[in-house]
Amino acid sequence: MYYNTNTFIYLNGEIVKAAEAKIDLYSQTLHYGYGVFEGIRSYKSSSGKTKIFKEEEHFDRLKNSANALNLPYQWTARELIKATYEILDKNNQQDAYIRPLVYAPANMSFNPNKESFIVIETWEMQPFLGEKLLRVMTSSFERPNPKGFKIEAKATGHYVNSILASQEAKAKGFDEALLNDMNGFIAEGPGANVFMQKDRVLYTPQLGNILPGITRATVLEICETLDIPVVEKQITTSEMHGADAAFFCGTAAEVIGMESLDNIPFKKQWKDTLGIQIQNAYKKLVVEKAFTTTSITI
Ligand code: PMP
Repeated sequence: MYYNTNTFIYLNGEIVKAAEAKIDLYSQTLHYGYGVFEGIRSYKSSSGKTKIFKEEEHFDRLKNSANALNLPYQWTARELIKATYEILDKNNQQDAYIRPLVYAPANMSFNPNKESFIVIETWEMQPFLGEKLLRVMTSSFERPNPKGFKIEAKATGHYVNSILASQEAKAKGFDEALLNDMNGFIAEGPGANVFMQKDRVLYTPQLGNILPGITRATVLEICETLDIPVVEKQITTSEMHGADAAFFCGTAAEVIGMESLDNIPFKKQWKDTLGIQIQNAYKKLVVEKAFTTTSITI
């Protein structure tokens, strides 16, 4: 359950009880998947305080997503961050998932709107240890074509594609799906970006046909600090089948290793990969402010 009768949310400038909040059933978002959202995490930091990870980046992306879809957006990152800390505090949550959603008013046409609405919901989520490795399959679904969608926006409607891919993978006994782009190159998971390792180098799909993940950007920062070479390029499935290792990264998934792709195991044990070094650095980074190469205090 994501909420109970005592859970507070932020709704259009007010803090209200989740159980009592209402949305319009004629909202264009509900009918057509025309809305934008974010997935953010907060962690209990090493100082004991609650720390929202990369909060400005997430609220900036929310605004960019709204702009990409022509949704009116009247909020500042500052006020939304303040509101988020307030509801986390009222809900007594430190390790939490934070879900802002910008939604449209009642509108059964395809015409633009004069205003948008916003809700921020939070629920408890413990940091993930990432110990279980994922068995991944190449999805029969492709990611949405960037010529048909604003793929760089985190739009609600795009997630029909994620749900289909994820459900297909689970129905076939896998843990997760990996989707190609419309050109047949590896794109991303249903809710996470992907990296693979060959020798001492990491590879990840370049931006363009994927969501520009904030965790992906964080992994690139970690690699720079740890002197790990990364190449952003088009990757084929057969290249990935021969890789030493691979991992997904995303706000919810954090950094999580893969055991196999299409039942072909990766060559290296996870404990011997660059991925585990990045996973450890990431775990530190989310609860501390900085890291160094020696102590990995990112
Ligand atoms: N790709 C997709 C399709 C996603 O939904 C997500 C999760 N937001 C990501 C990648 C990873 O993005 P982030 O690291 O910003 O959570």
